[in-house]
Amino acid sequence: MATPRPVRVMDPLNAEFWAFTLDKELRVQRCTSCSKLRWPCAAICDECLSEAYEWVRLSGRGKALSWIVFERSYFPEYPAPHPAVAVELDEGPIFVCTLPPGVDVDSLTDGQSLVLDWLDGEDQFGEYNLPVFKPA
Ligand SMILES: [Zn+2]
Repeated sequence: MATPRPVRVMDPLNAEFWAFTLDKELRVQRCTSCSKLRWPCAAICDECLSEAYEWVRLSGRGKALSWIVFERSYFPEYPAPHPAVAVELDEGPIFVCTLPPGVDVDSLTDGQSLVLDWLDGEDQFGEYNLPVFKPA
């Protein structure tokens, strides 16, 4: 059994995103009209309003933009203290995630290089792999 986690936002677009995580592929939508990356998943491009897109695989590299430790528990699966980091992906989008166990949030530095890692997860929609970032 995988690690229980808070229930994911699930709609047809997010279902496509999460399906890629089963193969540990971090993909986001790219507008096929203007090439802008869409993250979070969206039905239309916020640049050109096109509905057309394709899924592109990301490099799995980024840098630490900001981070925080929640001192209050918002989900029973994530008891406080619970770290979260905003990662500026090399491709541009900002990705917010938790840190893998064993990574000390106090060790992060502004602009530090981070790389993709995966944690197991399970919710009412089934098992999946959760993309997270850790120091390179
Ligand atoms: Zn567009």
